[in-house]
Amino acid sequence: MSTTFAHLGVPERICSALARQGITEPFEIQAATIADAMAGRDVCGRAPTGSGKTLAFGIPLVAGVNRAEPRRPRALVLAPTRELAEQISTELRTFAGPVRIGVVYGGVGYGPQLKALRSGVDILVACPGRLEDLIEQGALSLSEVDMVVLDEADRMADMGFMPAVRRLLDQTADHRQTVLFSATLDGDVARLTRDYQSDPVRHEVGEETPDITAAHHVFWNVSQADRRDVTADAVSAAWPAIIFCRTRHGSDRLARQLGQSGIQTAAIHGGRSQAQRTRALADFSKGRVHALVATDVAARGIHVDGVASVIHFDPPEDHKAYVHRSGRTARAGLGGVVISLVQPGQVKDLRRMQRQIGIDEPFNDPDTAVLRRLSPVPARALAPTEPDGETGGRSGTTRRPHSGGPRRQHNRNGRSASAQQRSDQQRSDGQKDRSRNRKGGRARSDGANGRNSDGRGRNSDNRRDGRKPGDGGSGHGGPNRKARRAHLQRTVGQPR
Ligand code: ADP
Ligand code: MG
Repeated sequence: MSTTFAHLGVPERICSALARQGITEPFEIQAATIADAMAGRDVCGRAPTGSGKTLAFGIPLVAGVNRAEPRRPRALVLAPTRELAEQISTELRTFAGPVRIGVVYGGVGYGPQLKALRSGVDILVACPGRLEDLIEQGALSLSEVDMVVLDEADRMADMGFMPAVRRLLDQTADHRQTVLFSATLDGDVARLTRDYQSDPVRHEVGEETPDITAAHHVFWNVSQADRRDVTADAVSAAWPAIIFCRTRHGSDRLARQLGQSGIQTAAIHGGRSQAQRTRALADFSKGRVHALVATDVAARGIHVDGVASVIHFDPPEDHKAYVHRSGRTARAGLGGVVISLVQPGQVKDLRRMQRQIGIDEPFNDPDTAVLRRLSPVPARALAPTEPDGETGGRSGTTRRPHSGGPRRQHNRNGRSASAQQRSDQQRSDGQKDRSRNRKGGRARSDGANGRNSDGRGRNSDNRRDGRKPGDGGSGHGGPNRKARRAHLQRTVGQPR
């Protein structure tokens, strides 16, 4: 039997704020934990990526937090990365009403964070490093914090934040409520639970390896020389795509090279400034680029709706990394394709990884038709009031770079919500492409011709580097490269 947020004791004002976003039925982890957390219990939760943990802890926080004095927040959410902190605060604000949400993380100026703390923050979302830094400067005190959430506790442990997390918890009120969410509850996380939670209710939802059955997984044999072109083809068949590389340098290089193939990209990794990372994510989530090229920094916690594919350009470090990277697609019940590029020397390792994860997929030659067939069919409609939910309509002829319309503009009916529109579009494109392919015609030749060369400049750094198409190191493709590039520019379509 399905329940509602109201049944779980969620106040009406929050229920209706959520309903305005189309969120009416609690996900499993929410149904399991919200009532306990609202009753003041400590909660220790494990659930896969994309299962809705943010609302699971966010609703009880917003519902129960008291009003704070300046510089003395009443609730604290600790998160491992700036992106996640930003994302949590953004999501909380959508239903916070009068509750003041603040966010602090490193890599950006202190000014706005100090100002917000001075004027009063009820719920503070923070990364441990900057928070300790601000406390040391006397910018705030945690002594009145009586609700604490540790989000992605395992990740904070992996990143070496445990000592800081403990020091911070030690500064909060003794009688505090402590809620912890993590993808795993063993090791450091178990110790944290033992030392800082009192009689927690434990809720575990789903498999320990998240989401992996929700996505389709394909493994493609490629040579080192072919990887880049295969990646470009894959993106063109199933985008928005997130492409994972091992190194910062490799990500930057691949982003540039894909740019030369007509794929618009943004890169995100630890070597980029906060402003660059924020912009890259925004460009990606708003559909201004086809692909986000990332190192593992971006693998967890970042939620962008409707990611069609995850591409392991470099193999993940281990099976855990595979799961977390892959968890960027097929979130929240939506579909997705995960593509691993396998070079000859990597077959054995990836076989072993498959066994560790419990999947058994053949290693095939690259085949983008398969991607189109597996292309996700996202199911969730967003509320039409989405900020960027401008109606696309039949916009086949007008390019609107800053609007919320569809990324690729085909002659088809628009819908009012942009995300639904994008999902529909993906599905419809896939269907169209499949039928064209069956008929032997060319896929996606409609509506997008030549628009990649419009020089809008968002990704101009990807194309201004003076490299010629063959320069990327592989030398693969030879005389075909030009044709391939032209073909991609015709067929990939143009992001907004
Ligand atoms: P997690 O932290 O578990 O990885 P998130 O909290 O980021 O997952 O949630 C994933 C997505 O699901 C988000 O876009 C969120 O808005 C959406 N979502 C969460 N709960 C619900 C719900 N009850 N109904 C519909 N969408 C939801
Ligand atoms: Mg989360």
